[in-house]
Amino acid sequence: MRAYKLPSSSPPTSGMATAYEPCVLFKAPPGVSGPGPVFANAVANVRVHSQCLTSEVFGSQRCDCKEQLEVAMKYINENGGAIIYLQQEGRGIGLANKVKAYQLQDDGFDTVDANLHLGFGEDLRDYNVVPGILEDLGIGKINLMSNNPAKRMALQALGVTVETKVRESRARREAKRGEARRSEAKRRGLSDKLCERRVSTATL
Ligand SMILES: [Zn+2]
Repeated sequence: MRAYKLPSSSPPTSGMATAYEPCVLFKAPPGVSGPGPVFANAVANVRVHSQCLTSEVFGSQRCDCKEQLEVAMKYINENGGAIIYLQQEGRGIGLANKVKAYQLQDDGFDTVDANLHLGFGEDLRDYNVVPGILEDLGIGKINLMSNNPAKRMALQALGVTVETKVRESRARREAKRGEARRSEAKRRGLSDKLCERRVSTATL
């Protein structure tokens, strides 16, 4: 993981949320470590994830952000790559306004209408810090983990080369397969241990 601190004098987002400390969780190619650009200009799987405190920390079921993050973490763990985590809550309107929007949603507004009603645009997220983080890690091009064409276009507009898309459904499937493999390996490890124990008991 790497975390960054941006100067508070220059707000990096057009939204209301503070994004002064973006961070990145990554798994570099095998055998590579150290502080430098660990991906050596390679193509990497990347998810650009916006913080969702309500679901990720408090377990709110209103959205599936937590699930998306967990799927991405499993996928990156299996296949390598990076999750760029940006502090822009509620599509960039910030936590306090998001909670206000939730109250409106309880009164029957949908997500977009609630944000519009509060005087915000549909989506205030911005991704200005992403190219710098990719550069820091040495990621040349990305396989973007997202189903959101607006996010892809926003990143491309910032000069990020999106090689392919990793569909969330594929990532989800692969994460499930990885999990099955791991639990199978665990079971095997456990039965090996049991065998060992049986053998050692037998030799006693
Ligand atoms: Zn969410």
